[in-house]
Amino acid sequence: MNEIPGPIISDQWILSKRGNKNIVDPRRPYAWLVEKERTASGRIEDTAIIFLTNRECPFHCLMCDLWKNTTDRSVAKSAIPDQIEWALEQMPEAKHLKLYNSGSFFDVRAIPQEDYKGIASLVSNFETVIVESHPKLIDEKCLHFRDILKPDLHVALGLETVNTDILLRLNKQMTPEDFSNSVRFLTQHGILSRAFILLKPPFLNESEGILWAERSLDFAFSTGVECCTVIPVRAGNGAMDLLAEKGYFSPPDINSLEEVLEYGLRLNLGRVFADVWDLGQFSTCNKCLERRTARLTEMNLSQKIIGRVKCTCK
Ligand code: SF4
Ligand SMILES: [Zn+2]
Repeated sequence: MNEIPGPIISDQWILSKRGNKNIVDPRRPYAWLVEKERTASGRIEDTAIIFLTNRECPFHCLMCDLWKNTTDRSVAKSAIPDQIEWALEQMPEAKHLKLYNSGSFFDVRAIPQEDYKGIASLVSNFETVIVESHPKLIDEKCLHFRDILKPDLHVALGLETVNTDILLRLNKQMTPEDFSNSVRFLTQHGILSRAFILLKPPFLNESEGILWAERSLDFAFSTGVECCTVIPVRAGNGAMDLLAEKGYFSPPDINSLEEVLEYGLRLNLGRVFADVWDLGQFSTCNKCLERRTARLTEMNLSQKIIGRVKCTCK
């Protein structure tokens, strides 16, 4: 099973390349943090993120490493509200809250529906609650959760790429049409959605990576999302490392992330963010990494294009 299968990459192949999961405690979130984010209304405000510990996502996307901090079985009823309560006690106040669960909030084997009420009551002081979901799991459950939630509900959906050959090989098990149907459903019910877009998934070179991230931004906004986050693709989950070894994947360059963010901001169709986590992986120049990271962070917050970093590397 060491060959690169294609064109369809199966669950079985992806799972066979995995290493071990981290040890997690189902009574605690595996991480939490507070960061500044530009809101839909244009203010820069604190946003808390709680990374909930729960059952692994039933999808097995080629590029995903979120399974590392998940359990094999569903967590007990009330475990999710308990995790949220515990995290909120630890963290400073914030206006907005992201509940990210390494999968889909609306996957009932990850987050039991019986817990929605308890969750809603714990987060009632926030202005906005943002959850993530696979587009195929968007249905009436979202409306039920929205109805008992005091804050506004926003939903983040992985579009990944609109290159349909690549999307198929990512094993995401959805089409761009599935994505647009889910955004339409949410929009019709007054729920804002945001898209996750990959920069340079495997099987693309640098310029194709930029091109398809830009086409994906175009598509995402055309479906009605209010915000897009561009995520540079990383290795580290086993399958991606093997693809890198065989020459089918190399991480994107930080310059490409800057270029795609500039493109998205020029569209002026909604907020566009670059994921700035651990950007050292995407740069070979220590002289400008810090300045480039600061520039991307500033553009995320201001939603304006600022002067490029000058360096001998480029
Ligand atoms: S749907 Fe999301 S969490 Fe699930 S495997 Fe795919 S990328 Fe990972
Ligand atoms: Zn440099």
